[in-house]
Amino acid sequence: MTSDLLICGSGPAGRALAHRALAQGQAVTVVDPHPERRWSATYAAWADELPDWLPHHTLATSTDHPIAWTTRRIELDRRYVVFDTATLQDSLELHGARIIRDRVAEISIPTRFGTQGNDLPSVRLESGPTLPAGRVVDARGVPRSPALAEQTAFGVMVDRKLWPESDILFMDWRPDNGANPAEPPSFLYAVPLNDDTVLLEETCLAGRPALDTTVLRARLEHRLRSRGIALTGTEQIERVRFPVHGGRPSPRTFGAAGALMHPATGYSLATSLRLADTVAAGDSIWPASARSVHFLRMAGLRALLALPPHEVPAFFDAFFTLPATSQRAYLSGRDDLPGTTTAMAALFAALPWRLRRPLLGAVAIPRKS
Ligand SMILES: Cc1cc2nc3c(=O)[nH]c(=O)nc-3n(C[C@H](O)[C@H](O)[C@H](O)COP(=O)(O)OP(=O)(O)OC[C@H]3O[C@@H](n4cnc5c(N)ncnc54)[C@H](O)[C@@H]3O)c2cc1C
Repeated sequence: MTSDLLICGSGPAGRALAHRALAQGQAVTVVDPHPERRWSATYAAWADELPDWLPHHTLATSTDHPIAWTTRRIELDRRYVVFDTATLQDSLELHGARIIRDRVAEISIPTRFGTQGNDLPSVRLESGPTLPAGRVVDARGVPRSPALAEQTAFGVMVDRKLWPESDILFMDWRPDNGANPAEPPSFLYAVPLNDDTVLLEETCLAGRPALDTTVLRARLEHRLRSRGIALTGTEQIERVRFPVHGGRPSPRTFGAAGALMHPATGYSLATSLRLADTVAAGDSIWPASARSVHFLRMAGLRALLALPPHEVPAFFDAFFTLPATSQRAYLSGRDDLPGTTTAMAALFAALPWRLRRPLLGAVAIPRKS
């Protein structure tokens, strides 16, 4: 039987799309070389970005006021949630879908002359067969490339009793990680995973190249030592490395592959969950306003990469001083062109003069991305 929708990739985006298409009654095929692989990443999101259909029990912890430490402590007024990754994966259940364990070698889209005599899009599997489908969506993520800026992080999971701070740290740029101020900066991310465990993660927000996880590990150990925490070396660890851009906005792509990742934060999960229903229904998620916002966000990434390392905390200080509506528009308003423009203009105006010139240069000269 020909599926209504064939999805290439069953990461969080592909799986969410398949799950919602099934809920809409569609015949769905999913192709992934490891469809049963358990996700191991710690995923988090702004609560207000999540769709109503997502079961509440997929959330492990939450905080109403996460903290951004820039040059000072700033309390954010926005609920932040950490997922129970296994529960999230299980809740996106694929009962009724045809699951194919294989690798997609090629996706063919019909032209007006048809594709190889077939007027349906199709997928050629690495093992040989070609599968036609009513629609094909590519959710294969973004492969690593030296041309792409990446986010990297090294984290440890420690007993919550060992972590004396009560703050949930969305970003902590305090300079106690032993890094030379001339080196690329990194921040501490500290979130509870459950009642017993907290994740402490040294993070390089974006770099081309990004900091290596061995460097981040040394910085994390230094930082925790300076806060009175000695690691035993037996803690469970999390290593993070992924491109923060590189996807293609298109009706035939989704998730990171579909440019749904915010290039200045590396967040895409909530957006993929929220838009899964729309894409499953075949509706567009790329009006002109969303394409313009994507272009502006890429400019924001260039600005971030161009900042002198020691000025990064001052940059985020200006950002988190913006009105909450502007912060929200920049972080989450993927088709809110007026909101994004206003936020970027307000941020520029709030920055010290010494930062404006390098940012203008970076924003004005688009590099291939
Ligand atoms: C450790 C870590 C922590 C993160 N934390 C957050 C977070 O807190 N919040 C957030 O919003 N984002 C986070 N991200 C970023 C981003 O949301 C994730 O990378 C997310 O997994 C992207 O989902 P995706 O489904 O688009 O792509 P992927 O997760 O990359 O999934 C792609 C899927 O496609 C499959 N595939 C690849 N090639 C083929 C092929 N040829 N044929 C068929 N299938 C193929 C792969 O097996 C995989 O299952 C994190 C990333 C990492 C690595």
